[in-house]
Formats: sequence, C-alpha cells, structure tokens
Amino acid sequence: MKSLLTQDEWSFLADLRAYLDGLDPALIEATRRENIEDPMQPREHGRQFLRRLGADGWLGVSWPREYGGQGRSALEHWLFAEELYNRRLPNGLLTLNSIGPVLVRLGSDLQKQQYLLRILAGELEFAIGYSEPDAGSDLASLRTKAVRDGDEYVVNGQKIWTTGASVATHLWLAVRTGTPESRHRGVSLLITPMDAPGITIRPIITQGGERTNAVFLDDVRIPAEQRVGEENAGWAAITAALNFERMFYHNEPRWELRQLVHWADDAGLFEEETAQAHELRTVVGELAVDVEICRLFAQRGARILAAGRVPYAEASANKIWWGELRQRICDTGLDLIGEDGTIAYGSPYAPGDGHLERGLRSSPVWRFGGGTNEIQLDIIATRGLGMEK
Ligand SMILES: Cc1cc2nc3c(=O)[nH]c(=O)nc-3n(C[C@H](O)[C@H](O)[C@H](O)COP(=O)(O)OP(=O)(O)OC[C@H]3O[C@@H](n4cnc5c(N)ncnc54)[C@H](O)[C@@H]3O)c2cc1C
Repeated sequence: MKSLLTQDEWSFLADLRAYLDGLDPALIEATRRENIEDPMQPREHGRQFLRRLGADGWLGVSWPREYGGQGRSALEHWLFAEELYNRRLPNGLLTLNSIGPVLVRLGSDLQKQQYLLRILAGELEFAIGYSEPDAGSDLASLRTKAVRDGDEYVVNGQKIWTTGASVATHLWLAVRTGTPESRHRGVSLLITPMDAPGITIRPIITQGGERTNAVFLDDVRIPAEQRVGEENAGWAAITAALNFERMFYHNEPRWELRQLVHWADDAGLFEEETAQAHELRTVVGELAVDVEICRLFAQRGARILAAGRVPYAEASANKIWWGELRQRICDTGLDLIGEDGTIAYGSPYAPGDGHLERGLRSSPVWRFGGGTNEIQLDIIATRGLGMEK
C-alpha cells in the first residue's frame, strides 16, 4: 500500500520516536500512569514532562520559527500529538494545539510576547471558559458580562464544564461585552489568570470519574490589553480554537481497542477455533478498520490545515466518528467479556484492568464535550455540503 506520509514526515517521526525513547524511563512511566488516570488534567509529572520537551525544543512543531516553534507543517504537528497520545503521554492538547496557534494568528504583539514562549516552555496551561449553565450549543447566548472600567474589564458570571480549570494557569474566557441581544457580535475573549481575585472553582466529577469544573467570576478585574482581538470580535478566536481542538481528537479509540485485544489475548481467545473466537476476530478486525478511518479523518483535516485552509466540516466529522467509535469499542468489549465486564475500573478483579468499563462510562460525555454531535452534523450539512440552515 502506498504510504500516506512523505519521506520528510517519516523522518520527522523517526527523530521524534528516537528522542522519546531516550527520555528518563521513570519520568515517562510516572507521566503515563498519571495521564491514564485522568487525561483531562495534566498534573505534576505531566507538567514536568512537557517542560522537558519544551527545554529540548520539541513543543510547537508547526509554530513559526519566529515564535520559537520548529516551523514544520500542521501534519507534522498532528503526527507529534498522535505519537505522544499513542504512548499515553500528554501532548498539551488545548494549550499547544489550539490556543497557541490562535494567539499566533490573532494575538497582539504584547500577548505573543507574554504567552507564546512560555507555552513552548511547557509553563502555561489554559482552560477553556466558553460554556455556561444556559449557553452550551447556543454559545452566542452567553451572559458572563465584562464591563469596561478604565484600562480594565470587570467580569461577573458563571462558567461550567471548564475542564482543567483547577490545574490551569489561565482561562481562555468568553464574555459578553455587547448588548444582551448582540449574540455572537457582542462576545469578546479575555485571557484571565486563574489566580485572579474573584475566581472560585468547584469540581464536577463526570460519570467516567474524570474531573471538570464550574467556575464563578465575581468582580474579576482583567486588564483590557488581555483581550484577544477587537472588542466584540471574540467569536473568530473561539471558532478558530474549536476547529483546532476538534482536529486533535482521534487516538483514544485505538488505545481502547488495544485494551480489548490485550484482554482477549490474555484470555487465550485468539488461539481458540470456536465459533465465538471466529466472531471475536471478525469484530476486532472490523473495529481496527474503523479506528484507522478515525485516524484518516483527522489526518485529512491536518492536511487541509497544512494547505492553509480551515477544516470546518472535516473537524466535525472527525469529532463525531471519534466519539461514537470510542463508545462502540467499549460497548463491544464489555459484551464480549460478559458479566465480569461490569466490574468497575479500580477493582483488582476487573478484566483488562477495567479500562473498557471506565471507557464505556466516560465515552457518552464526548457526545457533548467539544460541541455536541448534533451541532457537528449541522456544521457538516452547512459548511461541508452547502445545505441551507
Ligand atoms: C466532559 C465535558 C468537558 C467539557 N469541557 C468544556 C470546556 O473545557 N470548556 C467549555 O467551555 N465547555 C466544555 N464542555 C461543554 C460542552 O461544550 C457543552 O456541553 C456542549 O456545547 C453542549 O452544551 P450543553 O451541555 O449546554 O447542552 P445543550 O446545548 O443544552 O444541548 C442539549 C441537547 O440538545 C441538542 N441540541 C441543542 N441545540 C440543538 C440544535 N440547534 N439542533 C439539534 N440539537 C440541538 C444537543 O445536541 C444536546 O443533545 C464540556 C462538556 C463535557 C461533557
């Protein structure tokens, strides 16, 4: 089969793999464990790992050289994220792959100076503050209000599902600066330090056991120079960041399928010549094809980015396929395991260490996270197929 990667892309990958193989195994193992435990919140070892990569010049693969990046293509950046994920190591998902590139395009000179090099050093972690209790799919109805007071904005309101807020250094905060009816034309984007006075964070634990948060903002004062773009023009920064984010969903199904294969292998099921074993092989083969399709969806989006265009519909298609496939793999796995499959993650008796059980509990939330699948279908219909709303 013809390779989908160019020679340069293969050699980039070989260099990256050699670099990662040479890192301190104790740090890698501690980071991997921490990341499997909760991939949504990079913590102590994850940060240490990202700082190591930053110091060695491995972060910001596709960022322009003038901002400290390697100046490579979006596809190579995507390969970097994939390789790290395959090793279950944090790849700086939102900060490095989504916020950073938007700052490169839309940030002021001051913001570029303040943030870009520190992101590349692995020092900064952004959480995304878009959703509110009454503004999710219909984000343009958000109400968290920012009122200009001299050189500052004073912000009041509440955000919800602010994943990573408890470990982040900054919040990428969407606020209303226009009239209540101004919808997406009255939204601004403010970079907010997480330790600013007036911010309270409360945990929300999802059914999969991962932590997300509610964030309350009471008279939080943010310098106006921390607004990204013009006042009331924050929508462009939000949609650009969301498109980048959706391109980087793709590896979990592969990892979950591996857990299924490990379990079946350990149970000796691939060796048997029974009808069930035959069915198992067929099912695993079909899922492996679907995992590869997921990868190709994401890779196609990365190629579109590399060509200087925005993969609106492709990013949405990728996100739907990814989320639904995760759920399907875990569901199929538990069916194959039978009733022992319901033994919860964390129990020493859980087959396959309970990863599929936990995966089945956590995967439904991804019908919502990153924008619901129904909304993605709308984007595919309008942006991708040119249908009218
Ligand atoms: C685990 C997790 C992590 C998240 N992390 C973040 C984060 O870090 N930062 C952040 O800002 N947000 C985050 N979110 C929020 C996420 O983006 C929202 O949940 C999502 O946009 C949906 O909003 P909602 O929950 O208010 O649901 P609603 O918008 O109320 O939707 C409810 C249902 O109605 C459907 N629906 C709504 N409108 C339409 C329509 N026009 N056409 C068809 N169907 C429609 C939806 O598809 C959904 O099924 C996260 C969510 C989850 C679950």
